[in-house]
Amino acid sequence: EEPPAALAVPQAGQDGLMLLQRVGVVDPASLDDYRAHGGYTALRRAFELGPAGVIREVTDSGLVGRGGAAFPTGRKWQATASQPDRPHYLVCNADESEPGTFKDRVLMEGDPYALVEAMTIAAYATGAHRGYLYLRGEYPRALRRLEHAIAQARARGLLGDDVLGQGYAFDIEIRRGAGAYICGEETALFNSIEGYRGEPRSKPPFPVEKGLFGKPTVENNVETLVNVLPILTMGAPAYAAIGTQRSTGPKLFCVSGSVERPGVYELPFGATLGELLTLAGASEGLRAVLLGGAAGGFVRADELDIPLTFEGTREAGTTLGSGVVMAFDDSVPLPRLLLRIAEFFRDESCGQCVPCRVGTVRQEEALHRIVERAGADAAGDITLLREVGRAMRDASICGLGQTAWNAVESAIDRLGAYE
Ligand code: NAD
Ligand code: SF4
Repeated sequence: EEPPAALAVPQAGQDGLMLLQRVGVVDPASLDDYRAHGGYTALRRAFELGPAGVIREVTDSGLVGRGGAAFPTGRKWQATASQPDRPHYLVCNADESEPGTFKDRVLMEGDPYALVEAMTIAAYATGAHRGYLYLRGEYPRALRRLEHAIAQARARGLLGDDVLGQGYAFDIEIRRGAGAYICGEETALFNSIEGYRGEPRSKPPFPVEKGLFGKPTVENNVETLVNVLPILTMGAPAYAAIGTQRSTGPKLFCVSGSVERPGVYELPFGATLGELLTLAGASEGLRAVLLGGAAGGFVRADELDIPLTFEGTREAGTTLGSGVVMAFDDSVPLPRLLLRIAEFFRDESCGQCVPCRVGTVRQEEALHRIVERAGADAAGDITLLREVGRAMRDASICGLGQTAWNAVESAIDRLGAYE
């Protein structure tokens, strides 16, 4: 049995939390407890507003995707809702596989009804009657709790043919991933649900037009969906006032590595990396922080004033990604860490396109040679890494290949990894 979700939430029970307010507080198996803590207020509000009204609120809130790419959620919902082709589908991407990312797990284990309610709202707004929840295979506790929550919601008329007596039909089916990182890429995920190999499709067409089973599909990350609940209960203007102008609302951060209190933290956008690391108890000998996971990039210990916003990290030449903050102190051998990241991408490449299939192998080989020579004469291999990295970034079909060189590049350029 895995440790209880509450252990991963050092702020559990603190006032002012929006996304984590119930995690570690409510009984995740009890629909009544969920309702007693504000559950299903947002869905009632959604039915009052109507689909167009919900999309307006989500658009005005400034919410952008929390899976890592930060695409405007309202725009995505509007684009799907306006497609004449039927049926429309909703897909919740709960495949959370980015190394160091565990926020969606905490939400699903600690507050499963919130996701069920949020999916119902998203489907209602975009004209879908069927939702798929694509769950990372390695999350057995989340599976049990979500299955129970879906069954309870169905039994109590909150899913099914007549949701809340409003004449609207919606139900959710859970599909489990089987351990492939690439199946978190939205179109590979569609292929996986449809029973094909988990290989990304070329975009465009975007899923809003041709997604699951070739039909208009809204695909959202767990945390993105759960944000819709406070948007509807507090109203878009109040939500948009949190954070910064271009990164609105609260954000979950997954802090791990050389810190005393690892776990999921909720902060409004705009707090600095240093403030977050102080909360988590960063160790004295902090050397570097990996932001955004393996697909993200390293920053130095003297760059902790970077604001944790999409625009702030971009301006600092890095990325917020899915909210990974992995701290490393002096005890971590950086060249071995980079080799481990390269192994991961080589292993997880689906092999469909040449730049990524071959590039991830060449990258790993070069890093392996550098480690074997204990960093001596690394210049030739660094030149090769840059060439291979550029080819992967420019010519790969999907985000995996396009970002497979990010972490290594940032370690060379920002940390001076092999100097
Ligand atoms: P993307 O920028 O291609 O797309 C983001 C979303 O916006 C997609 O849903 C896409 O369909 C939609 N979109 C983009 N342009 C559109 C348009 N013109 N019209 C309609 N919809 C449009 O990014 P991506 O490849 O989906 O995701 C990359 C991100 O995923 C990276 O930032 C990475 O950090 C993150 N990631 C997260 C995890 C995780 O476990 N959470 C794992 C791997 C990668
Ligand atoms: Fe597959 Fe890599 Fe190409 Fe993506 S970039 S389609 S993971 S081979």
